[in-house]
Amino acid sequence: MACHNIVILGTGGTIAGRAATASDNIGYTAAQVGVEQLLAAIPGIAGGGLVLTEQLTQIDSKDMSFAVWVQLAARVNHFLAQPDVQGIVITHGTDTLEESAYFLQAVCEPAKPVVLTCAMRPATSLAPDGPQNLLDAIAVARHPGAKGVVAVCAGTIHGALDVQKVHAYQLDAFSSGDAGPIGYVEEGAVRLLRNWPVAIEGRLPLAIKNIANLASVADWPRVEIVMNYAGADGAVVEALQARGVHGLVVAGTGNGTLHYALEAALLKAQAAGVRVVRATRCLNGRVLPKPGDTLSDSEGLSPVKARVDLILRLLIYGTAVPHAV
Ligand code: ASP
Repeated sequence: MACHNIVILGTGGTIAGRAATASDNIGYTAAQVGVEQLLAAIPGIAGGGLVLTEQLTQIDSKDMSFAVWVQLAARVNHFLAQPDVQGIVITHGTDTLEESAYFLQAVCEPAKPVVLTCAMRPATSLAPDGPQNLLDAIAVARHPGAKGVVAVCAGTIHGALDVQKVHAYQLDAFSSGDAGPIGYVEEGAVRLLRNWPVAIEGRLPLAIKNIANLASVADWPRVEIVMNYAGADGAVVEALQARGVHGLVVAGTGNGTLHYALEAALLKAQAAGVRVVRATRCLNGRVLPKPGDTLSDSEGLSPVKARVDLILRLLIYGTAVPHAV
């Protein structure tokens, strides 16, 4: 049997969105068009192997949930285990794409390509970006040697660890920050600039690979994100602690700096057993640790990815195990 089949898993998003008029790129409803129909908009796509589709869910990714993530990871693992499947493409909303990318890389650590793609304009747009993004994503999934979770948008390939949505409207909405993109897709050809994403093993030594375990998780750890800003204090941290929060990611200013009142509340929470991780609210750069730090840093992860990471750590180790400082 041919070993270059591609599976496309549809999850919704703007790429599957519908608006009342072709000129409306913002007043649409996401997640309306089926993945089969998205594929049908690209003639001749199947050349070189079968393209199979599965409508996994149909949601606006702002509403992403743990339940969908578990379902997604299970299907990804299911298809990747089939020798005749070369890679997977996932159509996804742009809003939480980076979180899903990090989650899938962490729990699946795929040795084959898993390519998330999306659109900033609905399928009904006068000039939709979805068909080209989908075409490019399939080209990446078919590229010999491609592996790991990546995102493809506007002709650019981003790695799961680095990808971030950085624009609320423009078609080229994603960036890989300081790391730079993995490569580009140009007229169906992949131009690589650096290596495919490496396993997150270094970060999560005991990554949850057994999806059955994830599926049986009844109560996901509650990890919230708080931010440092002018006038910040400890009130939000105290309120979350009172609600039994398990972990907190703080999006600090600059190099993870914190208002003294917020820092005091976080240290108090940490002493009481809440896991606290310090990231930066800056788009580029990372928190550089220094001697004497009392709160661990996110090791370069953005606040939203640090949150996913902390949730996984809490699932793997339980609440008692401290974050590696
Ligand atoms: N709200 C949409 C979503 O994330 C935005 C998009 O896909 O561009 O599903």
